Amino acid sequence: MQLTDVVIIGASAAGLMCAIEAGKRGRKVIVLDHSTKAGKKILMSGGGRCNFTNYSVSAENYISHNPHFPKSALSRYTQWDFIELINKHRIEFHERLHGQLFCNNSAKDILAMLITECKQVAVLLQLNTRIDAVNKISDHHFEISSSQGDFQCQSLVVATGGLSIPTLGASPFGYKIAEQFSIKVWPTSAGLVPFTLQPEDKKKFSVLSGIAVDSKVCIQGQRLHEQSFQENILFTHRGLSGPAILQISSYWQPGEEINIDLLPDVALFECLKTTKERQPKLNLKTALAKHLPKRLVTILIDSDFSDKALHTITDHRLEEIESQLKKWAIKPNGTEGYRTAEVTLGGVDCNALSSKTLECNDVSGLYFIGEVVDVTGWLGGYNFQWAWSSAWCAGQYV
Ligand SMILES: Cc1cc2nc3c(=O)[nH]c(=O)nc-3n(C[C@H](O)[C@H](O)[C@H](O)COP(=O)(O)OP(=O)(O)OC[C@H]3O[C@@H](n4cnc5c(N)ncnc54)[C@H](O)[C@@H]3O)c2cc1C
Repeated sequence: MQLTDVVIIGASAAGLMCAIEAGKRGRKVIVLDHSTKAGKKILMSGGGRCNFTNYSVSAENYISHNPHFPKSALSRYTQWDFIELINKHRIEFHERLHGQLFCNNSAKDILAMLITECKQVAVLLQLNTRIDAVNKISDHHFEISSSQGDFQCQSLVVATGGLSIPTLGASPFGYKIAEQFSIKVWPTSAGLVPFTLQPEDKKKFSVLSGIAVDSKVCIQGQRLHEQSFQENILFTHRGLSGPAILQISSYWQPGEEINIDLLPDVALFECLKTTKERQPKLNLKTALAKHLPKRLVTILIDSDFSDKALHTITDHRLEEIESQLKKWAIKPNGTEGYRTAEVTLGGVDCNALSSKTLECNDVSGLYFIGEVVDVTGWLGGYNFQWAWSSAWCAGQYV
């Protein structure tokens, strides 16, 4: 039996950050993980460059049944604090669209930084460890049985993430622990995930595989008010992907339709009318190809019609064309699920936790941090920022 102050289950973004902060306070910390390697998702993230935070972070960039909950942690450990840590380790980074920050070199730099910081404060990292049971023996006294022996600790931190990408070590462990302690867990679903299409649409659009179009994707969600994102959508051989689709997928409920404006920055009707006046013999397909990939036009607009010269098409029909391309309504068949999802929606109920410490209100000494909690960020570095912020906060108290 090993006695320690803090046991953290999950050696990735949230778990390692919490370990560092607790270690700095002189707490004896052991981090357990069933994987053979720490931080697998960090290494995979951002196409191998880890989009570790964003210049602009607020609670509005998160989805939760309690939208106010992330405010406290996000304001106590901000993106600027994480950037300071990155700078301390001389990790070079760059900004992409919408304030997203990526490593210049590799996501490995972020993991190496966290491991270095852990070592500096004597955190013990124990990988390849299957957790068999967790029990609370008395107030602030937990016992953990594992394939590598038993542990006793005062504070137990669950940082086991969500269900996305099981091959990277994802498991429902955190939710099960919550349920063991009678803590509510909101139903989970895949977020930031590509859509699959209905069989007919799939057949029709699969020839467009590889085409990306800047679009505004909008949903009139059951959950909330209207939500929209403007960025690329990408046609794939399975359906629709690309940043705008991933973003809207987190707001989508099965059966709902999404609306896509394929020309968000173009007043198409006005453009077509002007072209009709200036080049009346130009056919519609060529006129549209100024704004959209020709292959897409061919699929979306009936060819008998798109081959017609503009002067033969009434203004009313041009208006209909505009509406077809700017209000393209499509009902996804489903999503690709946890196999490719970047995050998991739902999870441990925020109302069961303190927003300041991430400790359970009714189970002293038990903490939930990172993605296992019902706080899901948009695409753009927000999920890591939640992991850093929630973990930092818990790290001050465990
Ligand atoms: C492909 C991909 C790319 C991504 N890119 C980005 C990005 O660029 N920017 C961004 O902000 N977010 C990104 N995300 C999301 C981000 O990776 C997660 O939100 C973040 O890693 C959550 O951190 P976490 O520590 O809470 O959980 P995780 O990183 O999921 O870590 C959980 C840890 O717990 C361990 N664990 C799980 N179950 C058990 C168990 N039963 N016993 C022991 N250990 C267990 C796992 O092995 C893992 O090490 C991406 C996700 C994916 C899948």
